Amino acid sequence: MAYQVPFIDPRSHYAKLKPEIDAAITGCLANGDLVNRHQLKDFERHLAEFVGVKYAVGVNSGYHALFFALLGAGVGPGHEVITVAHTFVATVSAIVHCGAHPVLIDVGADHNMDAGLIERAITPKTKALLPVHLNGRVCEMDRILAIADKRGLAVIEDAAQALGATYDGKRAGSQGRAGCFSFYPFKVLGGFGDGGAITTNDPGLARMATLLRYNGEDRETGEYHYHGQTALLDNVQAAVLDVKLRHLPEWIIHRRRMADLYRQGLSGIRQLRLPHFDQTRHHDIYQNYVVRTDVRDRLRAYLKEQGVETLVHWPKPMWEHSGLGLATPAVPKTTALCREVLSLPMSAETTDDHVATTVACLQSFFSTQP
Ligand SMILES: *Cc1c(COP(=O)(O)O)cnc(C)c1O
Repeated sequence: MAYQVPFIDPRSHYAKLKPEIDAAITGCLANGDLVNRHQLKDFERHLAEFVGVKYAVGVNSGYHALFFALLGAGVGPGHEVITVAHTFVATVSAIVHCGAHPVLIDVGADHNMDAGLIERAITPKTKALLPVHLNGRVCEMDRILAIADKRGLAVIEDAAQALGATYDGKRAGSQGRAGCFSFYPFKVLGGFGDGGAITTNDPGLARMATLLRYNGEDRETGEYHYHGQTALLDNVQAAVLDVKLRHLPEWIIHRRRMADLYRQGLSGIRQLRLPHFDQTRHHDIYQNYVVRTDVRDRLRAYLKEQGVETLVHWPKPMWEHSGLGLATPAVPKTTALCREVLSLPMSAETTDDHVATTVACLQSFFSTQP
């Protein structure tokens, strides 16, 4: 079905950037720059500068960024890693694939990890904290880092949804031992396939990730230092991402403006909770614009009828997927989020008209509610 307001619009995204992107791709293909060439190194340098760290290591997904960062922090069998129950499954799978045990804690009002719940989840087996900066909002990093410092734990940031977001002026992915990013096509910085990166100031962790992504091989000496994986960020993807990174600041401004338009249009609706949380220390980038309502499923069906495309991240709690073998955590706020959240159209291509149409549909839906 053709939506009058698409959730995202990859065709018009490409159309806007076509000359720059085509030149980047053609440059790689014409010169045979396919694997680990200057385009990858250039992108890594620019990404590290943007995030505000010394090193960025390109890998082939956000999942691999998390997996290698955890390995680089020494996470392994017998360890526990504390993360948040309301996240994408890859966060938890990366912990499991290290041989460690994920400990899921509940969220606060802003849908991010409640830092007040961390201490009581720590045991002698705890090795690391894995906060997730969901929907483009950074977690309360000062509290998380203070606990980690006191208890001797590593902090790995899942910043897959928060490239460019800040807390106390510091960018997501710059404060923990490592930051993990995803360049899945529909992230705020997206490639034309899967991609990811680790950001860090730790030269040992950067080197380990650099070897792990290349089957454990040191390309200078030919020595294999680990049983690694085939997980390098493709050079052509890196060339495209390097072009797009230059546009990211303007896209963030645009997303924040769209969020303001949603707020202006929707703030009168009593049955709707909007994602406008305290901004005194935060600068949110709105990877997703997530509203909450008790009548989520009916609202979503209505919007679909009206041609407005929405998504739900995520309708079913992770531990209810029996194949994942996760114990049921006591996280009532996360369970409520799964029932109530709805992501409205939000991307660099979302227009004022798209927001106006969506707002009008929401208003007409709620005007008929008791
Ligand atoms: C997208 C995402 C990931 C994983 O990224 P992939 O590149 O798809 O592997 C991890 N965590 C969060 C919170 C994400 O949104």
